[in-house]
Amino acid sequence: MSDLTKLKIAEARDLLAKGELTARELTEAHIAAVEAADTLNAYIEKTPEIALKQADAADARIKAGDAASMTGIPVGIKDLFATKGVHTQACSHILDGFKPEYESTVTQNLWDDGAVMLGKLNMDEFAMGSSNETSYYGPVKNPWRAEGSNADFVPGGSSGGSVASVAGYAAMGATASDTGGSIRQPAAFTGTFGIKPTYGRCSRYGMVAFASSLDQAGTITRDVRDGAIMLESIAGFDPKDSTSVDIPVPNFEAALTGDIRGMKIGIPQEYHLAGMPGEIEALWHQGIEWVKAAGAEVVDINLPHTKYALPTYYIVAPAEASSNLARYDGVRYGLREAPENGALDEMYETTRAEGFGDEVKRRIMIGTYVLSAGYYDAYYLKAQKVRQLIADDFKRAFEKVDAILTPTAPSAAFAFGEKSDDPLAMYLNDVFTVPASLAGLPGSSIPAGLSANGLPLGLQVLGKAWDEETVLRVSGVIEEAAVFTSQPELWWR
Ligand code: GLN
Repeated sequence: MSDLTKLKIAEARDLLAKGELTARELTEAHIAAVEAADTLNAYIEKTPEIALKQADAADARIKAGDAASMTGIPVGIKDLFATKGVHTQACSHILDGFKPEYESTVTQNLWDDGAVMLGKLNMDEFAMGSSNETSYYGPVKNPWRAEGSNADFVPGGSSGGSVASVAGYAAMGATASDTGGSIRQPAAFTGTFGIKPTYGRCSRYGMVAFASSLDQAGTITRDVRDGAIMLESIAGFDPKDSTSVDIPVPNFEAALTGDIRGMKIGIPQEYHLAGMPGEIEALWHQGIEWVKAAGAEVVDINLPHTKYALPTYYIVAPAEASSNLARYDGVRYGLREAPENGALDEMYETTRAEGFGDEVKRRIMIGTYVLSAGYYDAYYLKAQKVRQLIADDFKRAFEKVDAILTPTAPSAAFAFGEKSDDPLAMYLNDVFTVPASLAGLPGSSIPAGLSANGLPLGLQVLGKAWDEETVLRVSGVIEEAAVFTSQPELWWR
């Protein structure tokens, strides 16, 4: 067989079932691909021994006729999912050496289905960022390069390692997390498919917390079908997470009927941003034409509080982060730095000063400020109220439409350093993804075209709460219409 790393999950599953491929072969090919992709810096910890053991178990299971869809499929795991005995640091220095005693529910679900772990994936520190430049382990390189250029681009963030491993043929799928866009924006930057389900669809048990009311697990894959398969595996109620919801997980793959005739697709007028690049507008317009041609009805809708979404997010998320990150004090986890003969509070201070990176410190300071006495009502409480208005906007819109179509990000991938000195420019990346995060709604990003210089662009589909099936179905139709067959050249191998 030619390059096994280019197989999709569904293709590999079918070959494994027919006995034309073994999980061992597939895993060995991927272990080699992971080694060959070192320059991308997608993996910060490789676990080939675990992978081979899981692959052999998968082969036995397939032989016994007891395989699930993910059995024998090699995947990468974002570094914020707790993996028992394996590096779990959310790419922060403060968690140095931390190896959990327990497994996150999302990863446990994958192992229960027989998936194979290739290693832990790079990410922005504590998932704070849009370019993977805040990782303690250094930035991830986007496998894509602009036409006729050898310059490197960011892969997006915070799930930079997840998207680079999948776009770079060093994993068939990857877990990821999305607090304000960290699945969808990097998917758009790398020509991959990302889906963030409804808040509460996947368990947050064993996920390093950033902003607990927003964090949600999801997947990165090379196409929509693979996303449906992998999402179904990781999703489900978990008594260990009080915010996970006890409703059945549908057969997501079965939702890909290709039929959206008569469906109503909303186009939020507020997402026509002033100054948005023409190619993003053009891509959006193209997407509208595709769903129309497939028989859907396109409806203009209004989400009037959209312009408050970014400021609201950048109050709520840092507030929750400042509280969640208070636990890292040098006593219980990871790093401990203490001045000689120093007092206990000096140990706290030194550990936190050395353990956290600049962006994380910025969030802790903003979060502490908006929660402090005298400012709480003006910022945090106000933001909570606006968050409700944003959720209400969507509720009203979804009385009229079945899904919403927008661009995923306001630009294609950018160069390293281009925005890292300007937090506000960086935060603007999330302008189209953050509103649905605040409302807890499911959303996807589908590779839909190329920028003028040949970098991937994505379209975003948003759905009603618990209606990932419609998100997937519309995504599948856009994927089929877009015929996105471009691939990055394998320059790193
Ligand atoms: N880019 C956003 C932030 O920096 C979103 C991150 C995320 O979704 N984890 O907060």
